[in-house]
Amino acid sequence: MIPYGRQQIDDEDIQAVVSVLKSDFLTQGPAVPAFEIAISKYCSVDHAVAASSATAALHIACLALGVGRGDLVWTSPISFVASSNCALYCGAQVDFVDIDPETYNMSTEALAQKLEEAEAVGRLPKVVIPVHMCGQSCEMAAIQRLSKRYGFRIIEDASHGVGGSYQGTPIGCCDFSDIVIFSFHPVKIITTGEGGVAVTRDAELATRMRLFRSHGITRDNALMTKEPDGTWYYQQIELGYNYRLTDIQAALGVSQMQKVDSFVRKRQYLADRYFRLLSSLPVSLPKIIPAAQSSWHLFVVRLRLDQIRRSQKEVFDFLVGRGIGVNLHYVPIYTQPYYRKLGFVDGYCVEAEKYYSEAISIPLFAGMAEEQQDEVVRSLTEALEA
Ligand SMILES: *Cc1c(COP(=O)(O)O)cnc(C)c1O
Repeated sequence: MIPYGRQQIDDEDIQAVVSVLKSDFLTQGPAVPAFEIAISKYCSVDHAVAASSATAALHIACLALGVGRGDLVWTSPISFVASSNCALYCGAQVDFVDIDPETYNMSTEALAQKLEEAEAVGRLPKVVIPVHMCGQSCEMAAIQRLSKRYGFRIIEDASHGVGGSYQGTPIGCCDFSDIVIFSFHPVKIITTGEGGVAVTRDAELATRMRLFRSHGITRDNALMTKEPDGTWYYQQIELGYNYRLTDIQAALGVSQMQKVDSFVRKRQYLADRYFRLLSSLPVSLPKIIPAAQSSWHLFVVRLRLDQIRRSQKEVFDFLVGRGIGVNLHYVPIYTQPYYRKLGFVDGYCVEAEKYYSEAISIPLFAGMAEEQQDEVVRSLTEALEA
């Protein structure tokens, strides 16, 4: 089976992990800060807060921005459920902005219109979470302009996006948002097994995210309500969690970060090759906006169902039968049973549902051989022609 995505681990990565295993600290040692520095340097930001997953990072980002009961958070329906669950964890209400059918990202026009309507009824969001689907940045300049006009904060869910760029700056530079999140799950661009990070330019947000990452506990006198009882003393000043990354994971992350650019170059090369090899097939290929350079976490095609005889499900099953590990990113979040219970109904985001009825993610990963890619193209061609 050719998987839709997979990690790329070499001997350096293995050595980095082994050296932590032989050291004094498996967690809360020097590897986590080293990883945070590697990330923040790469993104040209001052603060990176590593966490046990991107989901955890999204949660502490929402908490740091003060998201709570009575607040509204908006995101894209075409994302992993974590993009909106993070707001529910905080007791907030979630709503969804429909997507652009060509980029698969949150539509800036739909966002502008929904904001206008929300303002009229006094229901503006506190936070908007744009998701950089497949590794392509959303139109952040436009979203930032809207945030200034309507007064919401922005968390970029760049789980797919490390190594991508927008307007010549790396995704994660926080030029257009308060906080940016990356995921290091093995199918993503680089991996720590499980892991994520929140980056920000705002020192106070970084301090609050560090607090929420580790039980709400501080050893910083300046944050305490009284003089410490002694050098052992700490205070819990918020209700936080244990969302820490281990040093074992962080060491893998440091080693992986040295390869992020080469991974993305390889993905870009394979994506360009897909554009060439698939150009005459009855599928729509993703549109890349001029300002964006995608990190190419995923390659999603949309089937032109009116031009083929097989259904989406039949194409999917045909490919799996040929050993092609296709996938579908994503089931629109609000159609999940849990979200239906919150009141969302079919047809809520028309473009998202149409996308879901046509999309297929085909294999793309840094270690993919051209022969494997040719095999994917051959099988897809056959699936669409029969
Ligand atoms: C993978 C992913 C997440 C969650 O990442 P974890 O590190 O697995 O928690 C969140 N949002 C998006 C868009 C993702 O793809």
